[in-house]
Parts: sequence; structure tokens; C-alpha cells
Amino acid sequence: MEEKIKKVLAEIVHPETEKNIVEGGVVGGVSVNAEKITVTLHFAKSRDPFALKIKSQAETRLKEAFPDYTITVIVREGGTTPRPEPKQTTTTGGIAHVIAIASGKGGVGKSTVTANLAVALRNSGYRVGILDADIYGPSQPKMFGVEDYLPDAVREEGEDRIVPAESMDIELMSIGFFIKPTDALLWRGAMATNALKQLIHQTRWGTLDFLLIDLPPGTGDIHLSIINELKIDTAVIVSTPQQVAVVDVVRGIEMFRNEHVDIPVAGIIENMAWFTPEELPDKRYYLFGKGGARRYAEAAGVELLGEIPIVQSIMEGSDEGHPAVGIDPRVEQWYRVIAQRIVEKAVQNG
Ligand code: ADP
Repeated sequence: MEEKIKKVLAEIVHPETEKNIVEGGVVGGVSVNAEKITVTLHFAKSRDPFALKIKSQAETRLKEAFPDYTITVIVREGGTTPRPEPKQTTTTGGIAHVIAIASGKGGVGKSTVTANLAVALRNSGYRVGILDADIYGPSQPKMFGVEDYLPDAVREEGEDRIVPAESMDIELMSIGFFIKPTDALLWRGAMATNALKQLIHQTRWGTLDFLLIDLPPGTGDIHLSIINELKIDTAVIVSTPQQVAVVDVVRGIEMFRNEHVDIPVAGIIENMAWFTPEELPDKRYYLFGKGGARRYAEAAGVELLGEIPIVQSIMEGSDEGHPAVGIDPRVEQWYRVIAQRIVEKAVQNG
């Protein structure tokens, strides 16, 4: 019976070690009595972000395989026999604060907001880097006009370092430099996770006040593994006012608040909050409804960091490789206020 249970558990793979949980030593005790199966999972780390997911996978699979038994899965973290971590050098030592930019859905302007925030921070005198981790649509290279950049590796202190692109004094590393747009969907799971780990630890970041991470939309394993690689000081959620986005936004906030992750959420930025035509600068058309993000922010107990309307210069700036903060003084002012609020939160937490 015990062997059968282990066989079921061996179908579960730990996303980080890429070993099944039996072989990887996660499955500790397995005990069976007349109607009860109890399994203990040992995680060597004290905060393994995959622990909850693996626990629930184990419960589901055991319930399916042994429907007549009551299943109990116990999680122990910071296991009694921690495996030694491989020695890893990292280039993140010169980064003072890390800010993650997330969104519930694609297309809400997360990448545009990341690029403009980066320029606003740079304009305030900070040294800024961006890690574009959006494997489904890496758009930072285009936003900064460096799509053709081919990163070089250099040898420094016996280690290979990847040289980031530089545009408007911002250091930029993107998963997009390594994949063709048509490849993007294949870059799932372990492959993307490993590539991102390498980009985080081997990019020659130098000294930065802020590293902004443009996360993929939604929530998933990629997010968890990035969260596990770096100490993120604060997270910012980008949303549009549409009601359909509420559930996605709440899920995004919960991802950071989860007890295993515990990253403070600085707040929500409402993008595309209204539309003001060039020729009627005092008019505001609320195309996607009014005040949506303010309501979810209140409901979720997070701050509304600011509202950015739909503006032609923002769209053109993204298309032409110059984020609008650098060219349109109105946009610069909106982002300056938001950037200042985020800096306060990141510094408080860092
Ligand atoms: P995401 O990263 O969430 O998928 P993007 O940042 O790529 O979204 O934005 C999607 C599209 O919307 C882009 O064409 C971008 O130029 C445009 N866009 C984003 N925010 C605004 C805005 N405030 N005003 C005008 N266009 C915008």
C-alpha cells in the first residue's frame, strides 16, 4: 500500500528542483490505517513558495486514487535534513530595492506603466533597471527602442555576466532578447523559469536604486519562482476600470499577501481611467466605467496610487520607443506623483 501511495505522489514534480517529490526527498512519512492515509511532506526551505501547491496536488491525487480513505497531508518546512544549497553567485547585490509590477490580465497597460514609471524614477535622479519577465509578451525592448539588441556575455571575476541594454539611462534586460515572438508560448514552465533565474542572477546590473520587474499577467509558477529568487520590497497592481477585472485584481493581491510570500502591496494604478480628446482637454469620457479601481482598492484594503487616462502620447511613445513621461509634461506629472508614492512604500519595506 505504501508503495502505491508513493507511486501516486511520484507523479508530482517540484517546479524548482524539477524532481518528483518522492525522488527529491520531499515525501517524508507515509502511514496507513484502516480508513486513513497520512503523508508528511518535508520542505528544506523555511518558506518554500511551492509548498501549498504541492500539498493540494498531493491531496487531490490521493483522494482520486484512494477514494475510500480520509487523506491528511501535513507540511513541515525548514526540514530536519536540509539539502545543501548549491553555491550561487548573484549580480543582485548592488540593487537597493525591487518593485514588482503585476496585473490580473494582459492588455491593461502593465508594460507601459512599468516603462513610464522607470523613466519617472530616472527623472527623479534614481538609478533604475527593468527586468522584463513577461514571457507571454515581452514588450520592454520595443518601448525603449532596443528590439535589435543582442545581449553579450562578458567574463568578470571568473563568472559569465550578461550585459543589459541601456536606453534613457535605464538598464534593461528582457526575456524578449532571447526568444522570438513566435516562440513565446513554448517558453513555459521550467524552461522559462530557469531562463529568468539566469537573467536575475547573471545580468550585470551594477548599482541600482530600483529594479522594476514587469511580471507576466495573472498568477502562476513563474511569479512564485521570481518571488523566491529575489527579495521584492513592494508590488504594484495595474488595472483598468472594467468590472470584469475585479476577480483578477483580487487574485493578484492575494498572491502577494499569501503567508508564504508576504510581499506588501503598494497599491493599484488605474490605467485607461478615462479618455480626454486632444481638442477637448476638459472633457473626460469614462469608456470603461468610472471609479472601478477605487472600489476594488477600498474592498481589498490597498491604496489607489493614481489614475492614468488614455492619452495618445502614451500609445505613440510605446510604439516609437520613447515612453511618454520623457516627452509629454502632463504624463510626466501624473507619473512623478505615483512614482513618489511607490518609492515611499518600497523604502519603508526595504
Ligand atoms: P500589458 O503589458 O498589460 O499587456 P501594454 O502595456 O502592452 O499592456 O499596453 C497595451 C496597449 O495599450 C499598448 O498598445 C499601449 O501603447 C496601450 N496603452 C497602455 N496604456 C495606455 C494609456 N494610458 N493611453 C493610451 N494607450 C495606452
